[in-house]
Amino acid sequence: MMSVVRIAVPVPLPQGFDYAVPATCLPPAVGARVRVPFRHRTLVGICIEADPKNAHADPKPLLEVLDERSILPADLQRLALWLADYYHHPLGEVFATLLPNAALKGLPLRVREEEIWRRSDKAAPDLSRAERQRALLAFLERSGGWASGKAIRAAGFTSAMIAALARKGAIEPDERRFDGERPPPLTADQAAAVAHYRGRPAGFSPNLLEGVTGSGKTEVYLRAIGDALKCGRQVLVLVPEIALTPQTLARFRRRYGATEVMHSGLSDQERLNAWLRCRDGQARILIGTRSAVFTPFRRLGLIVVDEEHDASFKQQDRLRYSARDLAVKRARDLGIPLILGSATPSLESLENVSRGRYRHQLLSQRATGAPMPSMHVLDIRGHPLREGLSQPLTEHIERHLDTGGQVLVFLNRRGYAPVYLCRDCGWQAACSHCDARLTLHQGRRRLACHHCGAERPVTEACPSCGSARLLAVGAGTERTEAGLRERFPDASLIRIDRDTARSHRRLEEGLAKIGRGEPGIMIGTQMLAKGHDFPNITMVAVVNADAGFLSADFKAPERTAQLLIQVAGRAGRASRPGEVWIQTLQPGNPALRRLIEEGYAGFAHHERSIRRRAGLPPARHMALLRAAAAKPAAPAAFLAKLKAQLPNDLEALGPAPAHMQRLADQHRFQLMLLADRRGPLHRGIRAVANVPAPRGVRWEIDVDPADAL
Ligand code: ADP
Ligand code: ZN
Ligand code: ZN
Repeated sequence: MMSVVRIAVPVPLPQGFDYAVPATCLPPAVGARVRVPFRHRTLVGICIEADPKNAHADPKPLLEVLDERSILPADLQRLALWLADYYHHPLGEVFATLLPNAALKGLPLRVREEEIWRRSDKAAPDLSRAERQRALLAFLERSGGWASGKAIRAAGFTSAMIAALARKGAIEPDERRFDGERPPPLTADQAAAVAHYRGRPAGFSPNLLEGVTGSGKTEVYLRAIGDALKCGRQVLVLVPEIALTPQTLARFRRRYGATEVMHSGLSDQERLNAWLRCRDGQARILIGTRSAVFTPFRRLGLIVVDEEHDASFKQQDRLRYSARDLAVKRARDLGIPLILGSATPSLESLENVSRGRYRHQLLSQRATGAPMPSMHVLDIRGHPLREGLSQPLTEHIERHLDTGGQVLVFLNRRGYAPVYLCRDCGWQAACSHCDARLTLHQGRRRLACHHCGAERPVTEACPSCGSARLLAVGAGTERTEAGLRERFPDASLIRIDRDTARSHRRLEEGLAKIGRGEPGIMIGTQMLAKGHDFPNITMVAVVNADAGFLSADFKAPERTAQLLIQVAGRAGRASRPGEVWIQTLQPGNPALRRLIEEGYAGFAHHERSIRRRAGLPPARHMALLRAAAAKPAAPAAFLAKLKAQLPNDLEALGPAPAHMQRLADQHRFQLMLLADRRGPLHRGIRAVANVPAPRGVRWEIDVDPADAL
């Protein structure tokens, strides 16, 4: 009898496809990769079933079996099925998200060693005239003493610089080393948390570690990790994209040596190396961003999610998974402990604590003994703004600079000005593909859309009336930087946002200066809030806190509060107490007031009661059905049709236009589904998940959305 196998193929269709195994070929194991013909292409798929019931009567033969055995352990095969079900996503595409690229391309799954460079123990040669080589050494130092050639080059250094340093004996190629740094004694709070983890019996135990900024959560993770390693277990640490800096990695490597990394900047082979080392049990620790949650492990013993509230854990396209939620799922399936850490826990996690599902540990003081920064609201009603800054705010900055302090200026808007308009006829620069204004970028002389990426040169005359009286209104980081430079010409000043992050060299130099503690100003977007550690900041200035609290999204106040607390936490980590000044035109805003007066815990408690009264998550469960098309009528009509087919034990709101209806020439609509329990929600989605959309309409299902815009 001919043998037939069912294959998950990476296409947006829900079902598996049947193929015949040629007589010359051993049948593939479930979980092995095969090459198959599909329509007019050849694709790599995963075998999901041998000899399926109701198999296709006349299947095409498969072309090649790529693996002798399953490439995934059983727990991950089960996870893939669960993902397809929970997120209502085609199984073939789930595998495409879950597997490393090299595996999807059908490449052999073999570790290929990359070159590793480390500082040698020899005395440093004289590099006084080789500035870049000196910088390279400093880079290695910050990375924990070693880095891959690839990472070194990605940081802006050349192979010639590496070769020159190797010739001088300052660096040498090496295997990764075990460094065995001595841990500091724990604070009382830290010791209590660690003792809590030690005292737990084996099995699933979810924990929320809530620790104020600077309370030393990382040290708690490191101790818990050490305990797991001692038992021969492996550890997975998930961190937000922006926080996976060389410094973060260095902290783990200094303590425990071999630590694998996984993030979006790796090559296919590097990612595959890390993936295989974890799967086959050679790696002890993996620290990675969102997608690292899909890594197979031979003997995983602990999962840590740092900054668990961070929005980057949610994937915002295709398979819209939450890595934080999947971490919980994996820990439960494997029966292992889990630590979710944050200074500003998500309302979902706080809800889980109050329902008794998670245990809660609190680190209420900074590990270094430094006091928490004092928070102040600066009422700027009636004050003129210069390049976004009020006179009183500028005076506070001056006071700190004069006394040798460093100031962090936070403004969550890049570019020069968000509005560019004509004084004579009222014309405004707008994106021709989105319902959005163009942002003026003065340095590059471009008008850019921050939503779709479209750009054009700055017009000197109004395209509507020809007037030359064009005006930039409002301030982004570029403009505020210019204002600060004019006001404080002698202070060193660096800007950190997506525009400056492109020029590595200037940024590295600026960071080095600030790192040495010289007085100065850093201005930037939320990139500043995390990742980089600046111990000498004495003041944080928040230029515009209002926008976030006014947004139409129900999650915006939560996110804004988290961001404010995180930036505020950059102040006063060392000996001098920190001050935070928040400029606002709405000093009476209740959310802001509560945050300042009662702290994040008070804010979060109240915000949860608002959500409860409004019938929104985390009190209830939500999914969005999003549809888009070039013309507005079609997606709205399609969603209305879906709504009519939904069972009536769940609430369906809409269809309504998305907050910005037109984005990149697509008109977007959404239908919001809400239910008290998960069962009805998922049954409802299942009832419509396979309804075919009309031509030209794309649609997707977003379970537990990160925003409802
Ligand atoms: P968090 O992640 O909670 O904001 P970190 O883990 O970055 O805090 O720690 C803040 C600072 O406190 C770091 O400089 C760290 O080295 C220091 N630190 C942590 N634990 C201790 C300790 N037990 N004793 C002394 N310093 C500590
Ligand atoms: Zn005009
Ligand atoms: Zn646009």
